[in-house]
Amino acid sequence: MPRPLSWIEIDTQAIACNLRKFKGLLSQNAKLLSVVKGDAYGHGIIEVAQTALKAGCEWLGVFHLGEVAELRKAGIDAPVLILGYVPQEDLKEAIELQARITVSSIETVEAALQVGQTVYLHLKLETGTNRLGLSGEALDRVLEKIRKNKTLVLEGVHTHYANIEDTTEHGYAQEQLTRFSRMLAEIRSKGFEVPVPHTACTAAAILFPETYFELVRVGIGMYGLWPSKETYVSALQKGQDPLKLEPAMTWKTRVAQIKEVPAGSYIGYGCSYRTTRKTVIAVLPVGYANGYDRMLSNRGHVLIGGTRAPIRGRVCMNLTMVDVTDIPDVSLEEEATLLGRQGEERITAEQMAAWAQTINYEIVTRADPGAVRKFLP
Ligand SMILES: *Cc1c(COP(=O)(O)O)cnc(C)c1O
Repeated sequence: MPRPLSWIEIDTQAIACNLRKFKGLLSQNAKLLSVVKGDAYGHGIIEVAQTALKAGCEWLGVFHLGEVAELRKAGIDAPVLILGYVPQEDLKEAIELQARITVSSIETVEAALQVGQTVYLHLKLETGTNRLGLSGEALDRVLEKIRKNKTLVLEGVHTHYANIEDTTEHGYAQEQLTRFSRMLAEIRSKGFEVPVPHTACTAAAILFPETYFELVRVGIGMYGLWPSKETYVSALQKGQDPLKLEPAMTWKTRVAQIKEVPAGSYIGYGCSYRTTRKTVIAVLPVGYANGYDRMLSNRGHVLIGGTRAPIRGRVCMNLTMVDVTDIPDVSLEEEATLLGRQGEERITAEQMAAWAQTINYEIVTRADPGAVRKFLP
């Protein structure tokens, strides 16, 4: 086995602690669903799912059938809800794997009926996100179909907030919740019990207990990250003592070369950086092919010897150059931390996201999908 050039350490205890904090928020009935789509936001779906279930979470949420198959193959038999789309030809397999299926069209219900086995459906209600979702006549037709067929079980209805992380003004989310509650009441008035309604993501779980219903879908928070600055500020505004979440991911690489270059030397493609002094450059074997964003060029930092080393020049496909002039005694193959803590210093996903003009969700989810994940017990 070749030694990895870049690897990711996952602190499973941090994930368990974070989840327990969310469990602590829930009202008596509400259960916790851990969202493990996107390879558990880049953390590794199987180990994260096992950690979450051990920490007391009851449900898992994925985006597609392939993820359910992976979980079942690993022997995980907890309830799994597919939050995304299942192609009609795949419904038989989804049902056989006992996945709960999100329904956003009549075609899905008709195809599920053809399978001829009991299937647990969760209707995605359109409340204003205008992504997947049902409303009006389309919803009525789906309900009629379910009413007439015993194998179709309406277990849940859910919705997702469009504007809850991006603002401290939650009028739009409030409207969506009102619409959802009205739709749920209407569905129940038609004689459907709907045992498991759910709407909350991490931000809603932190800010609005009235969004919980019977199940709360926590993604980003279980990985130790806040959905946004706005969510943090909103929590403070509500007089909360904000949850102390612990980021679980550390992304590392090793120094592949150290060299001294004279003042006035250009570094890397496009000659976009020129040294202003005699400079020691460390070359790291990681680049945009590994999810290390090219936007970090001439902007980001890494940690070497517990100190920040600024990126010089452009991030290449598989290599990145950093300035270690002020860090004494850097050695070949020494560990460099791209994301996470080293000694007293830390590079946060939020900081990397600011450098790369994106969000912390994308930073962790795209962190080197090919790299080995080491799970710290
Ligand atoms: C991804 C996702 C979540 C989790 O959102 P976080 O902000 O990461 O907690 C919840 N619900 C749905 C439908 C999702 O797609």
